[in-house]
Amino acid sequence: MAKQPMLKFVSIERDMPSKRDADQRNKDFNEIYAEFADEKAKEQASRCSQCGVPYCQAHCPLSNNIPDWLRMTASGRLEEAYAISQSTNTFPEICGRICPQDRLCEGNCVIEQSGHGTVTIGSVEKYITDTAWEQGWVKPITPATERDQSVGIIGAGPGGLAAADMLRRAGVQVTVYDRYDRAGGLLTYGIPGFKLEKDIVMRRVEQLEQSGVEFVLNCNVGEDLSFDAIRGKHDAVLIATGVYKTRVLTYPGVTAEGIVRAIDYLTVSNKLSFGDEVPEYEDGSLNAKGKKVVVIGGGDTAMDCLRTAIRQGATSVKCLYRRDRANMPGSQREVQNAEEEGVEFDWLTAPKGFVGEPVTGVMVQKMRLGAPDASGRRAPEVIEGADYVEEADLVIKALGFEPEDLPKLWGVDGLEVTRWGTIRADFQTGQTSLDGVFAVGDIVRGASLVVWAIKDGRDSAEAILDYLNDAKAVAAE
Ligand code: FAD
Ligand code: SF4
Ligand code: SF4
Repeated sequence: MAKQPMLKFVSIERDMPSKRDADQRNKDFNEIYAEFADEKAKEQASRCSQCGVPYCQAHCPLSNNIPDWLRMTASGRLEEAYAISQSTNTFPEICGRICPQDRLCEGNCVIEQSGHGTVTIGSVEKYITDTAWEQGWVKPITPATERDQSVGIIGAGPGGLAAADMLRRAGVQVTVYDRYDRAGGLLTYGIPGFKLEKDIVMRRVEQLEQSGVEFVLNCNVGEDLSFDAIRGKHDAVLIATGVYKTRVLTYPGVTAEGIVRAIDYLTVSNKLSFGDEVPEYEDGSLNAKGKKVVVIGGGDTAMDCLRTAIRQGATSVKCLYRRDRANMPGSQREVQNAEEEGVEFDWLTAPKGFVGEPVTGVMVQKMRLGAPDASGRRAPEVIEGADYVEEADLVIKALGFEPEDLPKLWGVDGLEVTRWGTIRADFQTGQTSLDGVFAVGDIVRGASLVVWAIKDGRDSAEAILDYLNDAKAVAAE
């Protein structure tokens, strides 16, 4: 009988790829985790118990066929593992790096639940597709037949690019418009290189270019080109513009020099990772070197700002968050990484104002967790008389993002939005209130995750294909 390659979780312990030492990694923007060696990937994949009802898969937004690609990896059949993995995920090596696995697939692995430590699903997923790139298995798309219909996609983030990939596979002519000078959205200019190196994103963009996808960059729709012009040019339009409006703080002193938006700070740092010259970094306004840095917020964006400031050579880096560690929205793994790299967390603290022009400090109030609010989450409340001033000469606001008012910015009548300002669209198809106009990703969900943007992009591409087929059928009548 063939040797059983799986169910080794009893004898083999969970092991992650090695992580670079904190005092070495906190000086550069390279990824902090190494690649699994071939034998290690096989070994870790073999820990899977091949559940009949795989909870990992049920909690993956893309319903990835995780048990099958783990079995193929454990058996050394990597090309098949890659084929299975890429059949449900457009960018598996990106998700393997930056999905919050502890809240999705790995957090729901039965082995984790039974106390043996989860199968390291994300690291194996990354390993499979990185190997596929190395081996030349990832190829440009060559559609079986070309169609004479075109789709315009506004926004080159993961949502737009996932849809572009699917549509191109079906032979559709695809043009992607983006206001930035590089494609990738937040993969390129939001998420720092220590989580996702830039060449990983760029090789995907190049693959799409080689597949015939046309990119129109430095094109701010609404300013450089009207939405109506794009709609008039294509048979269908997909809006995938993400959310970029920073929540507004109204505390006294908030307009002082040295208080900056997280997205501006991270965009500049990411441009430097491409080797660009950036005046705001050179003149010190978006550069943490030699500064006391305070970041306000507790989500992924705050974690990325904190760890970027450490790498830029700040003298101290502190995080103010109004709840405690257990109740913060960011991934616990990222908090641990940040602490190892030298970030200090001041839990249960909130700003109430700023001192100095330029800023010299944050007026902080101490908080405690009170009774649960309507959502069941314990609401923070102020402890009177415990205020203090935290010294700071760079304050980064990382309080989340809201949608821009697209119908107004673009002068479009009939494009409906929700009461949160996100575009009203069918969650399955992305169909908006306008005929032939679809929307996906953060602009529909609000600030969310890369994996959900990919899922939306893929689903909407299928709906767009149905729409194009119907249009063709009507034209032929
Ligand atoms: P985006 O990625 O935002 O792309 C939208 C694109 O549209 C951009 O390129 C933009 O330039 C373009 N655009 C906008 N308006 C116009 C216009 N008028 N004309 C032309 N182009 C336009 N998620 C994770 O899963 N894991 C993480 O670790 C993680 N870390 C994050 C860290 C940070 C700092 C941030 C901000 C977010 C993070 N996220 C993370 C969330 C994730 O990046 C987003 O959910 C995801 O990128 C949304 O994809 P999208 O395609 O909807 O939009
Ligand atoms: Fe897990 Fe994300 Fe990969 Fe799904 S896409 S298996 S959630 S890492
Ligand atoms: Fe394997 Fe865990 Fe998924 Fe079960 S839940 S199939 S053990 S990875």
